[in-house]
Amino acid sequence: MAAYVGVKHCITCANGTDALTLAFMVWNIGQGDAVFVPDFTFFASGETPAFEGAVPIFVDVEEDTFNMSPDSLENAILQVKKEGKLTPRVIVAVDLFGQPADYPKIRRIAEKYDLLILEDGAQGFGGRIGERKACGFGDISTTSFFPAKPLGCYGDGGAVFTDHDEWAALLRSYRIHGKGADKYDNVRIGMNSRLDTLQAAVLQVKLKAFEEYELAAVNEVADCYTKELQDAVHTPKIRENFYSSWAQYSILLKDEEQRNGLQAYLKEKGIPTMIYYPKPMSGQGAFAEMDCVKVDLSVTADLCQRVLALPMHPYMTEEEQEEVIREVKAYC
Ligand SMILES: *Cc1c(COP(=O)(O)O)cnc(C)c1O
Repeated sequence: MAAYVGVKHCITCANGTDALTLAFMVWNIGQGDAVFVPDFTFFASGETPAFEGAVPIFVDVEEDTFNMSPDSLENAILQVKKEGKLTPRVIVAVDLFGQPADYPKIRRIAEKYDLLILEDGAQGFGGRIGERKACGFGDISTTSFFPAKPLGCYGDGGAVFTDHDEWAALLRSYRIHGKGADKYDNVRIGMNSRLDTLQAAVLQVKLKAFEEYELAAVNEVADCYTKELQDAVHTPKIRENFYSSWAQYSILLKDEEQRNGLQAYLKEKGIPTMIYYPKPMSGQGAFAEMDCVKVDLSVTADLCQRVLALPMHPYMTEEEQEEVIREVKAYC
């Protein structure tokens, strides 16, 4: 995996949530720290810094890529600095639905304000910017092998990636009960986060399939959806020079009524769809007491009402795809 991504170290672990937690443990993130997280993502991206005692500060996303907006990020950082209550520490950049976040811009902001980048690549494995691969853009990067992700195993699994030797050594220690010289020598408080051996065996086979044809196959499915649907609905945009691993193919409808209507119509026709995500992070009850909102989050609020993920996987037949396209067009 390290060779595939092009980083020095890959440390496997039990799931993508643990992978994020391990990164925060290595950086000693906790009380008094601010961690910048997109408002439009899976709960774990904001849950893990909060679990460590830090405050997740939610940042709006771009309508066309669904990823963190660099302008909104910079606003949120300035706002936190101005208030002076928390120390800005980490930017969690999420590669949502398979497309890498805008790392060239996010890296410039991280350097300007002296922040670390944690790439949450749970949905991003296999993506690229130019020749550089996802899970290599963060100071530490993480992924998940849950079956719904681009590279899935048959249960739970995850990994952490970094070029930094000392952080890699700490990650290896924290994931096995803070081990020192061996697992019965414990030098720090850690966790039990092994990648299950059976899942590792599955991944050895599936990584090969992923490299050889699955990644190309989902890109063909995506190209076909975009070509056939772009006149009927708002189709997802991939930035120039970016390559997506299409964890999801998410379209945007006009409004919530049309989105919910299309979903019900497709269900009647036997076509499953999903809404990722029905609620912004900032609207989750778990964060209600935390003062996580510093900037306008209206793009995310709008996306949550209009987004719909269509069936998408590398083994989709042309007939199956034609049926989805025909029914989406028929409704819209
Ligand atoms: C799935 C996911 C995670 C968590 O991964 P698990 O393996 O389910 O713990 C974290 N972040 C994002 C963006 C995800 O999609």
